[in-house]
Amino acid sequence: MSYPEKFQGIAVTNPADWTHPKKISYDPKKFDDYDVDIKIEACGVCGSDVHRASSNWGPVKANQVVGHEIVGRVVKLGPKCKLGLKVGDRVGVGAQAKSCLNCKRCKSDNEPYCKSKDRVGTYSGTYSDGYVSQGGYASHVRTHEHFVFKIPDNIPTELAAPLLCGGVTVFSPLLRNGCGPGKKVGVVGIGGIGHMGILFAKAMGAEVYAISRSSSKKEDSLKLGADYYIATQEEKDWATTYADTLDLIVLCASSLSDINIDDLVATMTIGGKIVSIAIPDASQQLTLKPFGLLGVYISNSALGSRKEIIQLLDLVSEKKIKPWVQTVPISEAGVNEVFERMEKGDVKYRFTLVDFDKEFDN
Ligand SMILES: [Zn+2]
Ligand SMILES: [Zn+2]
Repeated sequence: MSYPEKFQGIAVTNPADWTHPKKISYDPKKFDDYDVDIKIEACGVCGSDVHRASSNWGPVKANQVVGHEIVGRVVKLGPKCKLGLKVGDRVGVGAQAKSCLNCKRCKSDNEPYCKSKDRVGTYSGTYSDGYVSQGGYASHVRTHEHFVFKIPDNIPTELAAPLLCGGVTVFSPLLRNGCGPGKKVGVVGIGGIGHMGILFAKAMGAEVYAISRSSSKKEDSLKLGADYYIATQEEKDWATTYADTLDLIVLCASSLSDINIDDLVATMTIGGKIVSIAIPDASQQLTLKPFGLLGVYISNSALGSRKEIIQLLDLVSEKKIKPWVQTVPISEAGVNEVFERMEKGDVKYRFTLVDFDKEFDN
């Protein structure tokens, strides 16, 4: 039995051996009036996938399929879909699959911050009927149309995938905090998300400062478009050298425990903003000296809204931005490879799983 009764996916079947996922078949969620069925062609590999699969964020659920940077083709539309999608359209789904669409936050383009129990993540979230959502390392996904986005024709599928979670997660704080011409913007942590932060901030017209511990990412950062590179462990007085310089810093590091916020604050102009997008292990705490924060704002940002995802896709299409992506064919072995290499940081700078038509026969 296959689609539409069953979907297939590469799932964590044994949490103790999470790096060796297995191919399974499972029931999709109930088909609702606003749902879109998508036959998946590619899925980006997000740091969240590894956190979830490895139980870093609490015990992984049984037979969990992860993946929330999904690109595929529309194969079926619910009877009440009204956002203009058509069967055959190439579309994407990011990390959010549902929200109430009715609260103050949802109505002001802040769906990621919806507090309702109707907010559901693309995987490991729970729908109102108890169904646990399954992600994009799979043959198909079924998602509410509000969280399905048409991909502009000139963005290759494997490059569109990482925009849908990682990309918009760094784009949203850039957009919301005035990144643009005349602004000096720092990106801390040059990895899967940070490298896209450099690309977007530059495309938005800002002067870009790539900030990392060592100089190992310097060459890549400059190629990506950074105007300056700061190696914090190698340039002793960097916080003094760049004092009173930056208008905005986006923290993209995977861990906050070894970041000296006081040094970052010293580089900020008055009114400057530091926004973190890191979701480290739940046990981590941020240490701050209140006096160091004089005149500077600090906050945490989550994902991006439908409006922001569409804006990002338009920006990437218009400016022909190219995230650095390595493709790996999806299979049990392929997912094992990306999980193990993500753990080692062995990726430049983002994986996209591809060749779904070869792995899934429906
Ligand atoms: Zn809401
Ligand atoms: Zn993600």
